[in-house]
Amino acid sequence: MNTILQTKDLCKYYGKGDNEVKAVNHTNISVEKGEFAAIVGKSGSGKSTLLHLLGGLDYPTCGEVIIGTQSIFSMKENELSAFRRRKIGFVFQSFNLVTSINVWENIVLPIGLDHKKADVAFIEDIICALGLTEKRNSMPNTLSGGQQQRVAIARAMANDPAIILADEPTGALDSNTGRQVLDTLKRLSKKKLVIIVSHDRDFAENDADRIIELADGRGISDVEVDTCTDTEEDVPVLSYEGETIQVPAGYHLTEEDR
Ligand code: ADP
Ligand code: MG
Repeated sequence: MNTILQTKDLCKYYGKGDNEVKAVNHTNISVEKGEFAAIVGKSGSGKSTLLHLLGGLDYPTCGEVIIGTQSIFSMKENELSAFRRRKIGFVFQSFNLVTSINVWENIVLPIGLDHKKADVAFIEDIICALGLTEKRNSMPNTLSGGQQQRVAIARAMANDPAIILADEPTGALDSNTGRQVLDTLKRLSKKKLVIIVSHDRDFAENDADRIIELADGRGISDVEVDTCTDTEEDVPVLSYEGETIQVPAGYHLTEEDR
């Protein structure tokens, strides 16, 4: 078992008495490295609140979040913020780039906040993998939405965190651009744990290995999706005949193939 993130009876309540809202209500989940997990549910079901708690951006009313072996809210505030900066990358719907500095400066910003030096070669690799090499000196407001979101993903990746948490990362993008951003996150999930909040069930059903559904702050279902329906020899692969590349039906081209 390679569990890296779990919650134990996690809850977050807002307000008091009649006005109390149980945004997250005794939720128990457990997610492993290499999983591409989706948290789905209607608007107001507690998805963002849960994601913020998972990343230690907000304190719970009760319960625990455990990352690796560490119960994160038992750390002192400054320890928790250092832990968060090193282990977790966040991606938000609204990109949250700093508009007064360029792409490169945005990407390395969290590393500077941690008083570390950027690993330039590593960041160049990320920028290249995200197709942003030409844009490294551009200002955020000159980029398309999809490019801005890829900068936000690069920023989330810059210090090689174990976990990426993304809150409706495609919510502000058209469907093609959203698809590219999801493909990017999916590729990353092979080496990390990626959790995406989405109200888009299609995405969850087509892409995620794991779907956690919330209603009124409670986990109402948790389904592991069997993404491996074909036997090994039936998996379609690219083949070459002279100068021609044969693409079998149902095969999805990866960035690498392109
Ligand atoms: P979702 O992301 O699924 O749309 P949220 O986690 O944002 O849901 O919200 C869950 C519930 O908690 C909603 O009823 C929302 O109004 C309430 N809520 C969220 N944040 C706050 C807050 N800061 N103060 C009071 N209520 C909040
Ligand atoms: Mg939300």
